[in-house]
Amino acid sequence: MTELEESRWRPPQRVFAAVIAWRADSLVEPVAKLRFLRRSAAFFSNRPMIRALRSAQVRHFSALLLALGLLPIPIVSDGARLIRPVISRVVIGQGDEVLRVWQVESSEAHELYSNGLRIEKKYALPDHGAEPFVQYRRTDDAREQRSAPFGIVFHTTESHALPFEETQNRALRRIGVGVLQYVRQIRAYHYVIDRFGRVWRVVPEDEPAHHAGNSVWADESHYYLNLNSSFLGVSFEGLSRDESGQTPATAAQIHASRLLTDLLRSRHRIIARNCVTHAQVSVNPENMGIGYHTDWAANFPFEQMGLPDNYRIPPPAMILFGFQYDPSFRAATGERVWRGLDEADLELQRTAVASRTSLVNLRRDLAQKYRHLYDKVKQPDFSQEGN
Ligand SMILES: [Zn+2]
Repeated sequence: MTELEESRWRPPQRVFAAVIAWRADSLVEPVAKLRFLRRSAAFFSNRPMIRALRSAQVRHFSALLLALGLLPIPIVSDGARLIRPVISRVVIGQGDEVLRVWQVESSEAHELYSNGLRIEKKYALPDHGAEPFVQYRRTDDAREQRSAPFGIVFHTTESHALPFEETQNRALRRIGVGVLQYVRQIRAYHYVIDRFGRVWRVVPEDEPAHHAGNSVWADESHYYLNLNSSFLGVSFEGLSRDESGQTPATAAQIHASRLLTDLLRSRHRIIARNCVTHAQVSVNPENMGIGYHTDWAANFPFEQMGLPDNYRIPPPAMILFGFQYDPSFRAATGERVWRGLDEADLELQRTAVASRTSLVNLRRDLAQKYRHLYDKVKQPDFSQEGN
């Protein structure tokens, strides 16, 4: 191409680049985005293609833009064949959407979902009847309820984690069955993901499981106390920390938990902020400390689950009810969590200054409020009360 010819093509190329950037931005999956950009780069370096466009005398840039905007976008290249995955999303809130997932088939032994998730039902407990899920309004502490859970708490079973190797198949399977039988016996979680990535339902989704104990979480509008009655429990089989300080989740577990999270969020319209780990929500009312349970205190793969890094959220138990943390909790977590802890400390200080009170007095008042609410929640017939 001569210099003159090149200069003639510069404006449309700018338009191409703008369109490509726009379409790339609309692709959520990083791999799909990368593939699209690679194909676009190949298109640009294809001079016969550009000559063809030129010979067609496409000079009107707005028409070109429109035409390109309507072209199917090649997302996955399989040699000469192009596949465009069908994606339908559920919008949950502003900037918060999730893949739409639905049930494809159901038998006595399993359920299959549209995202490839398979739920095993061999250890599922029978339905005893639905119970409402409870939340409290932040503005006036009013109690509200709905028939769907508000969030998910991720756990580890804290069971023996053998090396994940082929030679251990028999022992891994045996341990997995033992864990499931125990979880079933004590109704510990709604779902367990074994080390091979199989997803086992244990407690029905519309009934409480004994997974969170004393716990606190909050989103922008509501807070949650004793999350057994408001959040689902999903547990990874294994230890929260091995000898090296890592959480030995397998790739299969992480993959399966993403599929399960997408199903639960899609089905119950659960916002991303309310997908958190047990260490983030667990509290000890005896000493007003957070992090009583420390499973997934660090290393939870939020990004791989299609979730924002919720470790950064200042613990609501500190801000709303004056809970504090001790050095061991700080040691058990990492920098991502510390930022949230520091932010919670700062926010309390700001509130104390604005209320013309001391930090000690503010924490005392907030703790009193928690005690009052805690006593109410503990009343056996409270779950039957309306708002
Ligand atoms: Zn736990």
